[in-house]
Amino acid sequence: MSWLEVFLTVMSSLIGMEVFAWVAHKYIMHGWGWGWHRDHHEPHDNVLEKNDLFAVVFGTINAAMYIYGALYWDWLWWFGVGITLYGVIYTLVHDGLVHQRYWRWVPRKGYAKRLVQAHKLHHATIGKEGGVSFGFVIARDPAKLKAELKSQKEAGLAVVRDSVGA
Ligand SMILES: [Zn+2]
Ligand SMILES: [Zn+2]
Repeated sequence: MSWLEVFLTVMSSLIGMEVFAWVAHKYIMHGWGWGWHRDHHEPHDNVLEKNDLFAVVFGTINAAMYIYGALYWDWLWWFGVGITLYGVIYTLVHDGLVHQRYWRWVPRKGYAKRLVQAHKLHHATIGKEGGVSFGFVIARDPAKLKAELKSQKEAGLAVVRDSVGA
């Protein structure tokens, strides 16, 4: 593969992963996979969450891509690299910036702040119904997310925490 093909494969994998993460989070984690995702949305003291099992499953699939990619298809190996990169970005943003599992620094301005606000608003609903901001790297304007939470609440589609002010 040429470096251009490698670059395009990794980039499409990265972009594809944000789309995949959004769909999986909305329809699997907040659907039939709620049993594993639930403890991530509820207060707890344990360091590990059942929700971390999703990372183990996706990590295993990613490892299999490297094995099959090395044996049969170059592009699959590089596609796997994109998934790994996304995983690193995801865990730095989600576990690091938002949930403070690695450090205690909170961004006060710019896009990093917006990412944190958007995911905090994802945690503003109680239970698996409704909710906003299922992606992790592309974040909408928090004011728009709050307005959407408000309309979900009024329509009876979601239970929203009072602290959000929606
Ligand atoms: Zn969630
Ligand atoms: Zn979270």
